[in-house]
Amino acid sequence: MKIINLFSPNYNRKKRLTNSIKFIVIHYTGMQSERESIKKLRDSKSNVSSHYLISRNGLIYKLVKEKHVAWHAGHSRWGGYKNLNNNSIGIELVNKGHQFGYTSFKKEQISNLLKLCKKLVKKYNIKARNILGHSDISPIRKIDPGEKFPWKYLAIKGIGIWHDCESNLLRRCRRLKVRTKQNKNKFLKNLKNIGYCFPNNGKNLYIKTVKAFQRRFRKELINGILDQECFIIAQNLANKLQKSS
Ligand SMILES: [Zn+2]
Repeated sequence: MKIINLFSPNYNRKKRLTNSIKFIVIHYTGMQSERESIKKLRDSKSNVSSHYLISRNGLIYKLVKEKHVAWHAGHSRWGGYKNLNNNSIGIELVNKGHQFGYTSFKKEQISNLLKLCKKLVKKYNIKARNILGHSDISPIRKIDPGEKFPWKYLAIKGIGIWHDCESNLLRRCRRLKVRTKQNKNKFLKNLKNIGYCFPNNGKNLYIKTVKAFQRRFRKELINGILDQECFIIAQNLANKLQKSS
């Protein structure tokens, strides 16, 4: 795996401990061009960076050393963690994003992302459940890497988590209401067990977090509304995670 070294000045000067690295956070660049994205991530005035950037054709650029905290996640939460920059490696994928023309990620881009993730998982012993999208940890502000990101494919290849619900069953449960308070609470509890955070009872936060969950695990319908399909998926994932921990 070839890695091209570039330099970004946007990182914490103090080195972090190797065992503080516990997450991989995946982003899209959300800009018009690759050139522009690299320029921004290297611009000392932008205050943003990532450890890696992967171009459309799969070139991997390294911008910040892994032992340094890069500035990619911003205000974020997952499980018991806050401000995930401190504990994560950030990977940007070049994609114009929802604002400028969101397109499918390219095969070369994903296959090299997979290789990079495998290397990092091994090096830092990162748990499958800790491979996340930016929208998972900052659902109010972010929707990247978005619903076109192939989470299922990556999980099949050993990176990240996926459910094992039967797709015909899921389709039949789509848009079917979850009626009881008990099941609504159960869904919320399952989301929390997966890692999603609800630091307050705001309705906006709830809807956006459900959307983040859907963007990741039920990309066919992203409406922020709990239905039986979402309920079953969350239950399955929470069960799987509980068994594996
Ligand atoms: Zn992002």
